[in-house]
Amino acid sequence: MTTDGLQVRLPDADATRAWGRALADVLRAGDLVVLTGDLGAGKTTLTQGLGAGLHVRGQVASPTFVIAREHPPLPRPDGTRGPALVHVDAYRLGSLDEVEALDLDAALDEAVTVVEWGEGWVEGLTDDRLELRLARPHGGVADDVEDAAAGERVLTVRAVGARWDGVALPGADAVGLTD
Ligand code: ADP
Ligand code: MG
Repeated sequence: MTTDGLQVRLPDADATRAWGRALADVLRAGDLVVLTGDLGAGKTTLTQGLGAGLHVRGQVASPTFVIAREHPPLPRPDGTRGPALVHVDAYRLGSLDEVEALDLDAALDEAVTVVEWGEGWVEGLTDDRLELRLARPHGGVADDVEDAAAGERVLTVRAVGARWDGVALPGADAVGLTD
């Protein structure tokens, strides 16, 4: 099954984090999330919310020198642990060899795997995935860095595969929630 077209308006970075946090509630080990969008669209910001929702160790950040980072789960107040988060930023990946060296198949068995800039190659890893596209609603490239950082994004969610049958993905109601 493929679900197309769920769109969520994300007025600011906190809203984007809140949506990522809500998404964590429906994810489990083995899930793959593919994040698409221009530089500065909010892919890492959304992943930060996801990391908070999964309650994993370490700061989710744009990796400068590493391409993939694993965040192990911390115990929740009730003592249970969720899946780890494997965060891949493929922006600087140069070759398919480098992709293979990441050994994402192994990560996919035991973690929630989020890949920024994965469109076009990550699809080969699994039939089930969540494709998240972040865009500035008014399009275009901002004139300066401050403009680029400010403001609204639109998230488009595409759920591919039987994994998502009957799964209630977060919508607009998930945005604006605070801790
Ligand atoms: P990417 O990983 O897609 O390159 P980042 O998440 O690293 O993008 O950066 C997005 C930047 O835009 C951050 O500085 C963030 O604070 C800012 N921002 C402003 N509005 C939003 C929004 N609605 N959603 C996400 N980020 C936003
Ligand atoms: Mg990023």
